[in-house]
Amino acid sequence: DIAAQARVQAEQADKRRSELVVNVSHELRTPIASIAGHVESLLLATEEGTVTPPATTLYTYLTIVHNEVERLGTLVDDLLSLARAETGELRLNIANVVASEVIEEVYQVLMPLAQRERQVTLVRGVVPALPPVLADRQRLAQVLLNLGRNAITSTPAGGIVEMSLEQPDASHLMLVVADNGIGISSSDLEHIFERFYRADSSRTRTSGGFGLGLAIVNDLVTAMGGSISVKSELGKGSRFCVLLRVATSTEDTL
Ligand code: ADP
Repeated sequence: DIAAQARVQAEQADKRRSELVVNVSHELRTPIASIAGHVESLLLATEEGTVTPPATTLYTYLTIVHNEVERLGTLVDDLLSLARAETGELRLNIANVVASEVIEEVYQVLMPLAQRERQVTLVRGVVPALPPVLADRQRLAQVLLNLGRNAITSTPAGGIVEMSLEQPDASHLMLVVADNGIGISSSDLEHIFERFYRADSSRTRTSGGFGLGLAIVNDLVTAMGGSISVKSELGKGSRFCVLLRVATSTEDTL
């Protein structure tokens, strides 16, 4: 009956909330421990002005603290995005969007990162004269940025990341982010859209994300009426496909 159903739903929501708190606390521990440790040793070293640590040590420690603080900032932003999606507060500005322009925009942002920091070649392949899609332009850029950044950081030097646009049928366009990087094992593949999930290869990293990026991407794409899928093979590379609805001519005139 309805009452029992509501109870089960409430219990599930409670469980999800507790899991989230456990996960968040767990993720906060490492950066906070790192900040505390480095600040403490700087405090000790500068105690009462007796000893001054060498400038290089000071710089290294402050850089670590700075990076950890930035990561904590992005964690908070990500958590807010997830919470908004969950409470249905994700207000989208759906309009006709020329997806190739979004690709171009994201390409300009990611190109320097790919080339200078990772020695990865970023290319874009766009078929000309494709129809506009129904999307929130800013959110679509966020989706593409997330997928592009993941692809670049999962690809060793010399690799290639491609962002492209295809038209599988009359009413859909497909945004594809493909790389020939480390790939994802089939056991990891079924979990990568879950919150806080990181594949083995990246779980050992102390830097990098918190495993929230793809969960947010999934929320955003779903909210825009699209869907996301992935194919990947360990050691070969990955291919993320975002299916979006083509804007119809009636919506064109709105
Ligand atoms: P993170 O913050 O760790 O990047 P994401 O939710 O964006 O979290 O991704 C989840 C996990 O999926 C990553 O930790 C990584 O292991 C894996 N992953 C995502 N994109 C790729 C890719 N293009 N190639 C290989 N692994 C990937």
